[in-house]
Parts: sequence; structure tokens; C-alpha cells
Amino acid sequence: MKTLSFALLLAAAFAASAAEPDLVLEGTLDGRDHQTYREVPFDVPSDVERITVEFSYTGRDEKTTIDLGLLDAEPAQGFRRFRGWSGGNKSTFTVAASDATPSFRAGPLRPGRWALLLGVPNIRKTSHASFVAKIRFDKTGAADALPDALRVVANARPGWYRGDLHMHTAHSDGGCATRGGAKAPCPAFLTASAAAERGLDFIAVSDHNTTSHFAALRELQPYFDRTLLMPAREITTFQGHANVFGTTAPIDFRVGSATVPDWDALLRDVAAKHGLVSINHPVRPSNELCMGCGWTPTPAADLARVQMVEVVNGNDADTPLSGVPFWEGLLDRGLRVIAVGGSDNHDAGAATRLGSGAVGTPTTVVYAKELSETAILAALRAGHAFVDVAGSRDRRLEFSAASGDATATMGDTLKVPANAAATFTVRVRGAAGARVELIEDGRAASIAGERGIASNDQALAFDWPGDGRRHWRRANVRDAGGRLLLIGNPVYVEP
Ligand SMILES: [Zn+2]
Ligand SMILES: [Zn+2]
Repeated sequence: MKTLSFALLLAAAFAASAAEPDLVLEGTLDGRDHQTYREVPFDVPSDVERITVEFSYTGRDEKTTIDLGLLDAEPAQGFRRFRGWSGGNKSTFTVAASDATPSFRAGPLRPGRWALLLGVPNIRKTSHASFVAKIRFDKTGAADALPDALRVVANARPGWYRGDLHMHTAHSDGGCATRGGAKAPCPAFLTASAAAERGLDFIAVSDHNTTSHFAALRELQPYFDRTLLMPAREITTFQGHANVFGTTAPIDFRVGSATVPDWDALLRDVAAKHGLVSINHPVRPSNELCMGCGWTPTPAADLARVQMVEVVNGNDADTPLSGVPFWEGLLDRGLRVIAVGGSDNHDAGAATRLGSGAVGTPTTVVYAKELSETAILAALRAGHAFVDVAGSRDRRLEFSAASGDATATMGDTLKVPANAAATFTVRVRGAAGARVELIEDGRAASIAGERGIASNDQALAFDWPGDGRRHWRRANVRDAGGRLLLIGNPVYVEP
């Protein structure tokens, strides 16, 4: 007779809040379950992007051991449903179309009856144990929807964090020297290693249109515990390239096709998935050398849905290919678009050359409340960022403003009524001998004050009163030879 030794108390309740699991599966074991396998069924609804399971059980003090695996809703019964086995080595795992915790297999999440697969290598004859599996379904694929169990906080302190937002690996056209001296697709491990050695705090790996590298990053992240590895994509179309951050959901990149008629359709799709968009290398020519590389949406896209522009790609600062004039043109149209940089590295071991920087040349430096994906993306969205053109380890640009009781920093808005006093402060570190350049509405600003930077930690203040009009004001730092070192984002002035 079938015993009740493995009585399942299936408490299936939909989440009361985002923090609550969608399902809680509970059950008990006793000595009769020793060296048996059991399936714990659960139902996956339609349109799920990610399933995350947190599993715990009692009885470890009595050497009770429960191994963990997953079966999906593949209609063919039997072991074709197998989606992974972590045994006793992982108690939390996630499975999505694009990625999965190592031990588990990424792929489509078919709605229907799935099962946790439990193995019991040991439970003593007289022992009793209980287990709980908390299951969460996410339908967005958004970084801000990841459960706490998957959140990576590489540093919990607020501060300035340096990263590279644009790089390629073997998952697209990244290539590097093999151990035998030939050339081969370059493993993502080398990109993460190069970033760690360069002292970067975060990277966004942005292979072209695909999501296959997300699983690689999930494997690498625990090892690179001081370097945040963020999933990204370079959406690569015949009418321009743009990085998308903050979502692992599929994005149809076929701009100009029946499914994605124009860039506006793509931008709406990304917005619905809580993603951020950064137009890459906007003024590259589009020709047979670089197909679709320039930003040429037809018809013109609504750039209110674009959050960022890559103003430095590799070492194109101070060249005709610089993205700064394009970006400032958007600011002059009243758009609040954030300047970022990206190496566009295609070879983790290579030095900087035109069109592709070394890993970390340039960096985007952001002030974030912690070193996590959501905090870095929030800081980028807010514009609390500058571009370190050479990707130094220590240069810093802080641009802030005060008028009356109000203060603002890069990305913020400051109210400065007509004739009201306002002080703008540029603080620069690690750039003795350089000069500050002040820009208002795309033109060099003729504000009185010392521009030379004498020490490696210097603040320069400028009286810059209101004139009753809207402006954007920002600062660059150039070296003694006039080359750009640091590119600051604006403070927006409103009367
Ligand atoms: Zn590109
Ligand atoms: Zn690229």
C-alpha cells in the first residue's frame, strides 16, 4: 500500500506582493524515502520569462540529504523533460529562456506541469524531515524584477563605480589569439578577467543581438565576485546600433521587417520590458566596411525613448567620429540623454585601436548607491555619470551646482530664476595640469574664473547666475595638449 511518508502539502497561492513567492511547495520525508526519487509537481503559467526556485529542508544534523533537479513540461513523458540537476550543491537556481544557473539548462519555459525532482541519498530509518520550495515566476525579464535570491551586490557601499558598457565575446564577433597562436572566438572568461585586472567595477557584455552570453555571465559572476557582470545586447540593425541594458527578455531586432517596421517599434518594445537604450557610435558611416553602423533610422525615431548616447567609442574622442556633437544636438532639442562611453572591445587581450578600445577604454563612471545591476542602471538613468576617456583608475569629475537652498549634480535639474545667484563647482581628481572646459547649450561658456587644475584634487567654483531661460550646463576636462580626459553630463537649469 502506498504510504503517506512523502505527504505533499501543496500550498499554491499567487503572490500577495512582489517579495512573496508565487508558489510554495512543502512536504515531509521519513526513513521510508531513503534512496528514492520523487517528483514534486507545480504548474507554470503562460508567458513566463524566468523561474527561480529557493529550496530548503530540515534534518541536516541527522545527515538527511535531499538532492535537487528539475523536469519541465515537455509533452513527451520521461527523461526528455530533464532541465537540470544540481544535487546537493545548490539550493537556489533560476531557469530562463536566455540563461540558467549552471547545473540547469536555459530554454523555452513551456506552460504546464513541471516538477522538482528530488533525490534522497540518505535519511535515517527514524528520521523525519520537511522541505520547502519557494518558486517565483517573472514575466518581464527585467533586471528590476529579479528576486533577491538572484541579486548580485558586489559592493554594498555608495560610491563612484567604473565600468565598460560595450564589449563583445565569442557569443558574437569577439576573437582573440588561441593557446596555439591562431585566432578563435574569444571566451567570455577572458573579457571578465581583463576587466578585473583593469580594476573595473562593472562591465556590460553586449554581444550582437543574441542572448547566449547571459548564461556564460551567470556562470562567471560568482567567481568574479568583485566585478559586476551585466547582461546587455548590441541591437544591431541595418539602420544603426544601440545597446540595450536591464532586460533578458527576447528583443526582435529586425528593424525594417514586417515584425519590426521601424526603430520606434523596437524602442517601444524595449520600454515595455523596462530596458534602457544607448545609441552606439552614432556618426559612423554606414557602408560596406561597417554595415548599418551609423544611426540612420528611417523614418526618424522618437528619441524620447532613448536614455543614453555612446559619446566615446574606443578611442574616437577628438576625432570626426566622436559622438559628442550628436549627443549635444539632442540636448539642444530638449532631450535629456545621458553621455556614456564603451570600448566596443572585440579582443580581450588587445590594445586600443580606432573602432575598438582595450577593455576599459573608455570607462563610464557612475555614482551609485551600491554596486548592483539595478543601482548602476538607476545611476545611468539619472545621469549621475561621466566618461573617463582613457579609462584611468582614479580620475574623477564631479560637477554640481547650488542656487539658494537648492543643489544639483550631474543629471539633475536646478531652479535658477532670472538674476538669481548660482554657483557651479567642478571638482577634478587625478588630473593635475589639465584644464576645465565649461559648456552651455553646446557652446564654450564665457564665465569668469580660473580653469587650470593645479593639484590632483581640486575644486573650481564659478558664479553663473540665472538669465530666466532654460539651459544645460556641463564640464569637460582636457589635458595640456587639449585632448579630452573627462566628459561630464549636464546639470539642467530651469528658471
Ligand atoms: Zn556597433
Ligand atoms: Zn559593438
